[in-house]
Amino acid sequence: MAFNPKQEYQVIEDLLTIKDFSDYSEEYVTRPPYQRKNVWSTRKKQNLLDSLFRRFYVPKIIIREVRLTEDRTIKEIIDGQQRIITAQEFVQDKLRLPKSLQNLHKDLPGKIYSDLSADMRRFVDKELKYKADVVKGIEDPRNPLHQRIATEIFWRLQQGESLNSMEIAHARLNSLTRNFIVKYSDDISFDFEKYIPVDDNPHKHPLFRIIDRTNDRMQHLALMARFILLEKAGGPIELKNADVESLIESYTSDDGIGNETFEKDPIARKVLANLNVLHDVFKDDLMIKNGDAIRELRQEYIIISIYLLLRHLKQYYVIEEDQRKLFLEFFLRFHDRWQNPDDEDRDVLSFSEHRQQDKKNVEARHIIIRQLFFQFLKDQGKDLILKDEKRSFNEAERIAIYRRDKGICQMCIREGKNEKESVVSWAEYEADHVVAHAKGGVTEISNGQVLCGHHNKRKGIS
Ligand SMILES: [Zn+2]
Repeated sequence: MAFNPKQEYQVIEDLLTIKDFSDYSEEYVTRPPYQRKNVWSTRKKQNLLDSLFRRFYVPKIIIREVRLTEDRTIKEIIDGQQRIITAQEFVQDKLRLPKSLQNLHKDLPGKIYSDLSADMRRFVDKELKYKADVVKGIEDPRNPLHQRIATEIFWRLQQGESLNSMEIAHARLNSLTRNFIVKYSDDISFDFEKYIPVDDNPHKHPLFRIIDRTNDRMQHLALMARFILLEKAGGPIELKNADVESLIESYTSDDGIGNETFEKDPIARKVLANLNVLHDVFKDDLMIKNGDAIRELRQEYIIISIYLLLRHLKQYYVIEEDQRKLFLEFFLRFHDRWQNPDDEDRDVLSFSEHRQQDKKNVEARHIIIRQLFFQFLKDQGKDLILKDEKRSFNEAERIAIYRRDKGICQMCIREGKNEKESVVSWAEYEADHVVAHAKGGVTEISNGQVLCGHHNKRKGIS
């Protein structure tokens, strides 16, 4: 008996001309869903062209065969994304040959592919090749085990580059929280049906378009993950990298690949609702109108703190147009103070000292910013309206409202139906707030009315 552990996949060597990647570009997925954003500078691409023309050593490309249907496969690039993009750009005349090739032949430097003489183009077409290792046997894009092995190969090849925690989490394709985070905050998205990357993510929440943080190392994704952690805890909590990782890990599921169901989770809905309000607060900013990101939304720990403040206010107070303006004014003033703190400004200095993402620091910042907000209100002579804590009518109130309105839907009657047509049965009847609860409407008989199911739903939408 020989010691011979079973292999999880097979590897076959191949040799591909660099022109292949351009001629059949639709057969290559250069950015699989677990891949992180990685863009080479023009100089780095030209260095590679230099090596290719000199026929120097170039590392192997690692390709995975992915089966889309019985008779169709696509080639996923596990490693070599930038080498392939360089090849494609050169053959498509988007990249010039470097000056460094002068000593190989004087006609090469500065040339694009179609400027080359026929014999040189033949050299490119026939002689410039990449060696490739093609991985077979893990070809099902919906199989979490296959995807995990592909991801594992990718990680091991990235060893020298040290992935950050969000880059690792990003590759956890069968995590429902990961999918939600990527869908709403990443720059690109991935179409699992067609198995292709979508360059500009149409689902990205508008708030992430105006935040002034680069997403190169997935900072948007980490921020979104932290919003989920806050919402899940209902307030300040540990937001360290390990907590982000375990949030992703604890939501993995066998049918998680391409699964978007987490967005129906109450936690996800609350996050999106808060992001909507935050976006609303900033959307009229002059910088956005000029197409820029907002200068004040640059530091993650500040964004976390205003998210928490807004979340708190929304929970207890009526936050409408006027209050949003106040909130913005407060934040801009706070930001000024934070940027140029006075030696005496204990509150702001303490806020800055607590920039860490553990619970103690998050909480300390939250208390400070909350206190400063209410101080600001007081200075402005403004007050917030408390939401009525009681959200729904009790049985006695429901009966009283029904009797008073004679069981008639108040909207139906206003729309011109007669009394008989407008009567709602007790079973169908819904007690509605005339002034919505979210707008400070109280839960009292005087603010209640009978609505039919149809009108109650319509009111909920508007
Ligand atoms: Zn009605």
